[in-house]
Amino acid sequence: MSTGNVILVGAGPGDSGLLTRKGLEALRQAEVVVFDRLVGPEILSMIPENAEKIDVGKQASNHPVPQYQINQILLEKAQEGKRVVRLKGGDPFLFGRGGEELELLKENGIPFQEVPGVTSALSVPAYAGIPVTHREYCSSVHIITGHAKAGAELKIDFDALRRTKGTLVFLMGVTALPRICKGLLDAGMEGEMPAAVIERGTLPRQRKVVSTLEKLPRAAEEANIVSPAIIVVGKVCALSESFDWFDSLPLKGREIIVTRPAERNGSLCGKLSALGANVTAYPCIRTVERENDPEFDEAIEKISAYRWLVFTSPAGPGIFFRHLRKAHMDARALHGLKIAAIGPKTAEELEKFGVFSDLMPETYDSDHLAQAMSDVEGPVLLCRASEGSDALPRLFAEKNIAFADVACYDTVYEAPNSDQVKELVESGAIVTFTSASTVRGFVKSLPDTDFSKMLGCCIGKQTAAEAEKHGIPVRIAEKATMESLIECIKGVC
Ligand code: SAH
Repeated sequence: MSTGNVILVGAGPGDSGLLTRKGLEALRQAEVVVFDRLVGPEILSMIPENAEKIDVGKQASNHPVPQYQINQILLEKAQEGKRVVRLKGGDPFLFGRGGEELELLKENGIPFQEVPGVTSALSVPAYAGIPVTHREYCSSVHIITGHAKAGAELKIDFDALRRTKGTLVFLMGVTALPRICKGLLDAGMEGEMPAAVIERGTLPRQRKVVSTLEKLPRAAEEANIVSPAIIVVGKVCALSESFDWFDSLPLKGREIIVTRPAERNGSLCGKLSALGANVTAYPCIRTVERENDPEFDEAIEKISAYRWLVFTSPAGPGIFFRHLRKAHMDARALHGLKIAAIGPKTAEELEKFGVFSDLMPETYDSDHLAQAMSDVEGPVLLCRASEGSDALPRLFAEKNIAFADVACYDTVYEAPNSDQVKELVESGAIVTFTSASTVRGFVKSLPDTDFSKMLGCCIGKQTAAEAEKHGIPVRIAEKATMESLIECIKGVC
């Protein structure tokens, strides 16, 4: 059996963009991932599906998995020959007990590596608009643990800290905040010294309280600040308001649910997060390719009999060309055929197979595609979902244009009934719908839910009409593009 190994990976403070490339690579190769409470949810979703996931998350003064046991798990998994990643919040060696975890591995000759992470001590103040050093204010920064056993004295030399005149960053200090501030005041630091506390830094739900050393404990209590939070004391805190870039993001803190199929939601989720939104990916539908469907196979065999080939979603081209290949045919079989695509994403998919589209409506929906095709010469082959809109078949029938409507995939509703999503919906989340089928999947997954407070931001009139049928208030994006959908969301925030 080959020897396993352990890589200690720093996951950063929460924002998944702050995981390093090296950390991500280690995660992708992992067979076992042992992770903590502070690792951001999006980073957890990057763990390979088939990797064993072990949650050793610690709650304050409630350690479900004691440290010696974590050390033991790492050792045992590596001894089984596994590639183990120990994923820790921030940087593993900064108040992360990373050193302790390596000792047992070293004793037992297990190979290990450490991938440093972006520490919360520097990045959380940065997301609150606080540069931890600034030439005009200070010439050093000090990182201190504010952790103390319940009731015990803090072992901090406040006098020495005051004398540094540097920025002081306290981790694990929420419970001890009043004692920390009092310690510094007693050591002679002025009560007017700017000070801040930042909760859940770098995440969409980040909150900060900026005050003075004297008033911070009260202000933090009033705001009900809880762990994890970072305390910063020093003149640089005064810059927080003017450098407040994160809180100023247009979608900061907004709850947005993205219902697109998993394989197509990546860029939308990423773009909304980058604008500060708290995004929940909630794929409601999945497309399942039709296998061994005689109607589809026949249409492919007789492809040269058609004059037009029509795709109404980006899922269509890939499926069509896979079936073409199965029939031992390639793009040459489309010789002489004209091709219509409902929108640019579908056209882009077609281009992957070396085919340009001849027609695309100005507005990317079935109604406009039907209008644009009202005087084409048939026969037309519609290659689309089994539950497609009836706009195209209706028009072709009216205009006496011969056509075949072939279902090349089925839409499967797959969202689980989720209490968390129900709660978000009922408290006014924004939900994006990119097709009528995403609306149907969404509604089906949430029985007995009040949709009146949420807002459905939709692509296309048919999508919006489907949402309205279920009592969902809607807004329609001006154009049928992701960019326009994002503009639509910004417009209501
Ligand atoms: N190794 C970690 C620190 C672990 S100690 C690092 O380098 O960041 C845990 C403490 O880190 C918490 O009590 C809190 O003070 C701080 N912390 C970690 N992530 C944080 C976040 N997203 N927002 C605010 N504080 C955070």
